[in-house]
Amino acid sequence: RIAYVNGRFQRHDLAAVHIEDRGFQFADAIYEVWAVRKGELLDAEGHFDRLDRSLGELRIAHPVTRAALTIVIRELIRRNRIGDGLVYLQISRGRARRDHGFPPPGTRPTLVLTTKRLDLDAVAGRAAQGVSVISVPDQRWARCDIKTVNLLPNTLAKQAARDAGAYEAWQVDADGFVTEGTSSNAWILTADGALVTRPADHAILHGITRATLIRVATSAGYRLEERPFTIAEALEAREAFLTSATNFVMPVTRIDGRPVANGEPGSVSAELRQAYLAAV
Ligand code: PLP
Repeated sequence: RIAYVNGRFQRHDLAAVHIEDRGFQFADAIYEVWAVRKGELLDAEGHFDRLDRSLGELRIAHPVTRAALTIVIRELIRRNRIGDGLVYLQISRGRARRDHGFPPPGTRPTLVLTTKRLDLDAVAGRAAQGVSVISVPDQRWARCDIKTVNLLPNTLAKQAARDAGAYEAWQVDADGFVTEGTSSNAWILTADGALVTRPADHAILHGITRATLIRVATSAGYRLEERPFTIAEALEAREAFLTSATNFVMPVTRIDGRPVANGEPGSVSAELRQAYLAAV
């Protein structure tokens, strides 16, 4: 396997960044994930746009142009022979002697790229079954809209889900509203047929799958309500699902051990999953 680190393709097992990298010391870094299907990036531009926004919000200089990055990513997919999978990108503010303030101007950001194979048939199988989620308090910071590697609360919440035999954790804010999953956005379909998902505020990552599905669903005639919802409302809903680049649309059939509707994946989730896949 091959990774890309600061301008070089390297053997994945030997690829490394410096101990004084700010990503390592301060989580002073952003990341991005593209799904790859049949060797092609899905929703490529949306993820590139979000990458630019994340860098801008943290005032990290873009290490390469989008055109150059696209070439590198394609080459990495080729070298790793990725059919279905994902590309992971991380950019940190770079390497500097440890000091909380930004490093001197001219410090070169660290750029890392890796790939991973994914079994999309297994993902489809999971979608046919539906997944369980648990609810946990949202313990993250006030700018979850920036895709930073500051993910400790997300990892703790995901592990809590695994320990409970669940697939994902839905994080709940201080007012009792679901923000999002640890690595996915949260949705419900109400009894009267409205799709509900939290507005793209500072409390959630602005999912690219979320944005694309909003376009797909509204043009298919679904009514969209961008508003927060509670776990109680989700348990009363007709359907619930989550979205992310690698899950696409994933039906949620149990929340905190209780069934959503009859506990089976719903027809709208399945239809939206197909419509999303057709669109990307
Ligand atoms: N929310 C969080 C916290 C995430 O980490 C992710 C992505 O992994 C998402 C939502 C979904 O975003 P996207 O659809 O762009 O993958």
